[in-house]
Amino acid sequence: MKIRFWGVRGSFAMSGRDFLRYGGNTTSVELRTDAGERLLIDLGTGATELAKTLMGSEFGKGQGKLPILLSHTHLDHIQGLPFFTPFFIKGNEIRILGANPASSQLEATLQNQLAPHYSPLNGLENLAAGVSIETFTPGQALSLPGFEVQTAALPHGNMWTTGFRITADGKTVTYLSDVEYPNVEDPLPTAIALAQDADLLIHDAMHADHDYDQRRGWGHSPARAGVVVAERAGAKKLALFHHSPDATDDMIDEVVQRTSARTAVPVFAAAEGSYLDV
Ligand SMILES: [Zn+2]
Ligand SMILES: [Zn+2]
Repeated sequence: MKIRFWGVRGSFAMSGRDFLRYGGNTTSVELRTDAGERLLIDLGTGATELAKTLMGSEFGKGQGKLPILLSHTHLDHIQGLPFFTPFFIKGNEIRILGANPASSQLEATLQNQLAPHYSPLNGLENLAAGVSIETFTPGQALSLPGFEVQTAALPHGNMWTTGFRITADGKTVTYLSDVEYPNVEDPLPTAIALAQDADLLIHDAMHADHDYDQRRGWGHSPARAGVVVAERAGAKKLALFHHSPDATDDMIDEVVQRTSARTAVPVFAAAEGSYLDV
């Protein structure tokens, strides 16, 4: 399985010379099986860069099929939707799979984003591609072409998000973004179960460990949380992800250095555009 990080930033997109190496686009991660099946996680602004690549393939001819998993509907995870060009080509079949947000329906939430106040698209029904919005209950397993997916609800401030454990080609990738455990030193068993023996754990690392005390309760983790999950779960590699828009390239380097010094698990910071063979 191959993985490509198209957007690794949390909260809002950043630009500027201090953000060039890790990138400024918000969250979007592409998984690809050896046979070429694709799965996208989250539709942040990074997805618009993937869209350009897809348009040079079967998606440009209206023959593309793509399932997209949404962890939740905060803007940094869906802001790429109105600008994801494969939606504008008739014949493409795109499935958006997510849990219903608290007190709302997933489809209604996505429709709101395309309302005329926010977008000239004026509704999902105006997208030329075949688009289906499919909901699941966290805890439910999903079977997608080439991929098996386990899901679980995890706390994210005053709401919750969905964590994913994705298996393909005999390898496992776990995606735990936008998550804050009640106790960093004792992460929830559901998170550890999703990451059990994973080949790669992608974990929220919005805060540097030394900043966390001022940001407790905001719904995000310090880098340390990913380490504890990786160690308890026996994950083979840890990608720090969902970098704060305040975190410059040099600051992220420092977090990686400090985090690596405290664990035997190989740690790196996800960088926009980078590939990984899992
Ligand atoms: Zn986020
Ligand atoms: Zn969020």
